[in-house]
Amino acid sequence: MKFRSQIKLGSKRLHQVSALIGFAVAGVLAASVAVGSTRGDPALHDQALGILQKSISYRTVEGAGQVPAYAEYLKSVLVDAGFAPGDVVIESVADTATLVAHYRGTDSKKKPLLVVGHMDVVEARREDWTRDPFTPVIENGYVFGRGSVDNKFEISMITATLAKLKRSGWKPKRDVILALSGDEETQMVSTSKLAEQFKHAELVLNGDAGGGLLSEEGQPVVYGLQAGEKTYADFKLTVTNPGGHSSRPTQPNAINQLARALDRIGQYQFPAMHNELTLAYFRESLPKLSGPAAAAIKSYLANPEDPQAIAALSADPNYLGQLRTTCIATQVEGGHAPNALPQKAVANINCRIFPGVKVEDVRKTLAEVAADPEVVVTLHGSGAIESDASPLRKDVLNAVTKAVHARFPGLSIVPSMSAGATDSMYFRAVGVPSYGVSGLFMKDSDEFSHGLNERVPVSAIDGALAHWDSLLRSLAR
Ligand SMILES: [Zn+2]
Repeated sequence: MKFRSQIKLGSKRLHQVSALIGFAVAGVLAASVAVGSTRGDPALHDQALGILQKSISYRTVEGAGQVPAYAEYLKSVLVDAGFAPGDVVIESVADTATLVAHYRGTDSKKKPLLVVGHMDVVEARREDWTRDPFTPVIENGYVFGRGSVDNKFEISMITATLAKLKRSGWKPKRDVILALSGDEETQMVSTSKLAEQFKHAELVLNGDAGGGLLSEEGQPVVYGLQAGEKTYADFKLTVTNPGGHSSRPTQPNAINQLARALDRIGQYQFPAMHNELTLAYFRESLPKLSGPAAAAIKSYLANPEDPQAIAALSADPNYLGQLRTTCIATQVEGGHAPNALPQKAVANINCRIFPGVKVEDVRKTLAEVAADPEVVVTLHGSGAIESDASPLRKDVLNAVTKAVHARFPGLSIVPSMSAGATDSMYFRAVGVPSYGVSGLFMKDSDEFSHGLNERVPVSAIDGALAHWDSLLRSLAR
């Protein structure tokens, strides 16, 4: 599905953190924390870097058939570290594969802790890139290559951490299961299969969302903990008409009908909604703000139904998406000749649906608001998976806070609801609470996921390794 890459382009992990927390990036926040000086074990650093470089060399784009080979490589790393070969299972799904590695805990009655990521990457063409996207190149302190961030960085850090823990003899209380999908960027068939297989899991940690933002000077700004995603959906509005010669106008005219319906939809606002996650987001944002936005957030937190506060916040694109379902016209097409009455006019309405709201209910609302039975509203594409936000569990918040504060004492940790779509939505849809907890801190200017010349700073490795070590030790109890 092509739309998924469009979603991500608009809401890349760190862009999302920075967009949500636009005020912080604008410099209102001056976090008085020192840049984390996580000095890791040099041997572990080298191993993690080696795994990342090797990972990039597998061209795991859709249709290239390289995911199984990449999975075999990751399996070899885990088996070398002491995992039983039978505990690392690679299964083919459609033309891709899943990898499931079982790190056995001491208490089999406890539900497993699932760690997820995706082995596939978005297409990258050699002629468009400065360097070969599938040859890992280290230059100026960066590892360049497709997937160096999304999502092979986290996969490499998690794999290196699990291998280290295994070698050291560490035993978790509950089973830790690494579950990697193979088509997250496209069909998500492998994701839906993994979610079905592990719907009994205690919770999911996903390295493909959340994460830290550094200022351009390299100072930590904020950490985003992703605990919910809006549902992405496109709807088509279609008006058809027998048409005719433009010298003999008839009523109604399909383009005019569509235009009037679009205008009504453009003026419509879906009802304001809130959940634990969005309220926590506003609560965490408040101390860093002053002026009208702070006043509006204060009133909103005192009463999330306050119409004035909702109106004030809805006028700000930084906050609008946190308050309600949004639907906007993104494409329009109509008519077939300059001198003919239009036989057809079609518009695309792109919606970001608040967690818990049904896609079909949004379709019905759009049809009602269009208020013309000749404007037919249909769901376009099949990728809309409804999922509710995950509860902000204390154990998860504590574990994330501990891991982040070990590197950046006192850094603000802000819960976030992204515009969609990661593997997590499939796990949330089957009832497993899922959290985007990437260990990567990056500058906004270093973010090129899905784009050209994707790169990750080598200096991010030690901190991310410490992050995963801490999270696993805290949550696998
Ligand atoms: Zn990703």
